[in-house]
Amino acid sequence: MKALIKKLPQELQNIVEVVSSLAHTKNVRAYLVGGCVRDMILGARNLDLDIVVEGNGLEFGVNLGEKLKAKVVTHKRFKTSTVFAEDAIKIDITTSRQEHYPHPGSLPVVRDGLIDKDLFRRDFTINSLAVSINQDDFGKLLDVTSGKADLAKGCVRVLHDLSFVDDPTRILRAVRFEQRYGFKIEPKTLALLKQAVKKNMLINTEPQRIRDELILMLKEKNAQKMLKRLAALTKLSFLHLELKISNHTWKLMHDTSAFVRWFESNYPGRRRLDHWLIYLMVLFKPLSMNCVYAFCRRFVLTKNEEKRLIASKAVNPDLIRKINRKNLPPALIYSLLEPLSYEVIILLKAITKNKNAQKHISDYFEIYNDIRISVGGEDLRSLGLAPGPRYQDIFSKVLGAKLDGLVKTREEELELIKKLMT
Ligand code: ATP
Repeated sequence: MKALIKKLPQELQNIVEVVSSLAHTKNVRAYLVGGCVRDMILGARNLDLDIVVEGNGLEFGVNLGEKLKAKVVTHKRFKTSTVFAEDAIKIDITTSRQEHYPHPGSLPVVRDGLIDKDLFRRDFTINSLAVSINQDDFGKLLDVTSGKADLAKGCVRVLHDLSFVDDPTRILRAVRFEQRYGFKIEPKTLALLKQAVKKNMLINTEPQRIRDELILMLKEKNAQKMLKRLAALTKLSFLHLELKISNHTWKLMHDTSAFVRWFESNYPGRRRLDHWLIYLMVLFKPLSMNCVYAFCRRFVLTKNEEKRLIASKAVNPDLIRKINRKNLPPALIYSLLEPLSYEVIILLKAITKNKNAQKHISDYFEIYNDIRISVGGEDLRSLGLAPGPRYQDIFSKVLGAKLDGLVKTREEELELIKKLMT
């Protein structure tokens, strides 16, 4: 029975032992469920533990947090909690609270009925497996939907015919799991999925829920394949009615991804790129700025996300014409690229095929982006200049001169400042 649990990394096994003993002490039943069981059987690495307790998941999480000396975040409304343990291990604890009444008026609840009921509410058979971590049957697999057989066959199957209608975000999830594991959406499930798309179920779903699933998809390693599959099934019109996906979109996405890899292998110490944002920038390239704003509002992106997504519209014919020119002075290259985020610069690199632009962008990352001036506010104050907006102007002129090789040492920078002040 314990063989399955032994497949978990040692640090997770230790936590499971703690959860098990806590459940025993508190007299509640606890189960590993969902993604962590699926990945345990597949042998895929997963540092998230999903635990269902037949009891109060919020209270249980707080107790577990105390035992593990870990941070706990509770969600009162859903009676759930998340424990953030060492080594980036995340433990989600949910409450299996559904009471089961065999007959009207009878006493609730067969114990197994609770977890079974919970499993039947899930999205796919491969996600509705559970493993008991109770001391009387520790390690026992609960497979009420034949999820294990579907895992072996490599198929994504819903639990009932109305699954996609009940929750259309499962359309995105089906594609995500299919592509992540190289599975196939089972034929009847695929037919149900297509029917739900035809009925515009995605357009009529709460946009924030779609957004969350979309972002999860775009953060996956196989995001491109997932998007292609999703586009083949839905045309992605649920993102924006004017969105048109063409071969050009996929070509640009392919090129952009190649530059993302180039950036990440060459500059591992720089700020991490937000891949999901880059994918959206590529998808939305044919859309007008107003349409992108409309997307942001509908899907309730944060102001910061909106700003960063809209920033991609700076890649316009004027910028492309300027960056494509030959023999640009470094200070000019800097002034064109510095206001842009790394994500937008990478998009620009993928859009312009021009050799000059490629070199300018590489030089920017390689050399110019790292150049700093030696003088600071203290120097300007000692030269008698009162703090004010002129400081920024002077610093940017000094930096420009340094980029262009006109000043090299701190003394030369100070000399230039004196000239600029006269
Ligand atoms: P991942 O590896 O991407 O984290 P996961 O299966 O753990 O995959 P979560 O989104 O964390 O995904 O969900 C945990 C579990 O909750 C799932 O395995 C599934 O059983 C259930 N679940 C999640 N979303 C839904 C949904 N929309 N409908 C039904 N069940 C869901």
